[in-house]
Amino acid sequence: MGKQDCLFCKIINKEIPAKVVLEDSGMVAFEDVNPQAPVHILIIPKEHIEKISDLSARHLEMVGRLVLAAKEIAKKRGIEESGYRIVMNCNRDAGQAVFHLHLHLLGGRKFSWPPG
Ligand code: 5GP
Ligand code: ZN
Repeated sequence: MGKQDCLFCKIINKEIPAKVVLEDSGMVAFEDVNPQAPVHILIIPKEHIEKISDLSARHLEMVGRLVLAAKEIAKKRGIEESGYRIVMNCNRDAGQAVFHLHLHLLGGRKFSWPPG
C-alpha cells in the first residue's frame, strides 16, 4: 500500500481524527482505536515506512525516538512502576495489519509471556 492510501499517513496529515497524546517534528503518538489494555498508544514516525524490515541505519535516531516517546508516555500515564510492554509487529505471523511502522505501548494490566 502506498503513502496515499495509508491510514496512519492520513492520521499524521489530520485527514482522519485521532486522540493525539504526543507529537514532534518526526513522530506522533495517539490512542489505539481498539485498545487491548487500559493504556494502548500507537507511536509512529511521520516518515512513511511500511515495516521493521524496511529500516536501515539512517533510521536509527527515529527508532530511538519512538522508544523514548513510549517511556515518556508511560511515565505520564502512571504505569512506569507497574510496568508496560512495547510491541512492533512485522508481517503476517506477527499480525501486522497497518503497513506504516508503529510501536504499541501497552500497560495498566498484567501481560502473559510468551505472547499469544
Ligand atoms: P498492527 O496489528 O498492525 O500491529 O496494529 C494496528 C493497530 O492499529 C491496531 O491495534 C488497531 O486497533 C489500530 N488501528 C487501526 N485503525 C485505526 C484507526 O483508524 N485509528 C486508530 N487510532 N487506531 C487504529
Ligand atoms: Zn503511512
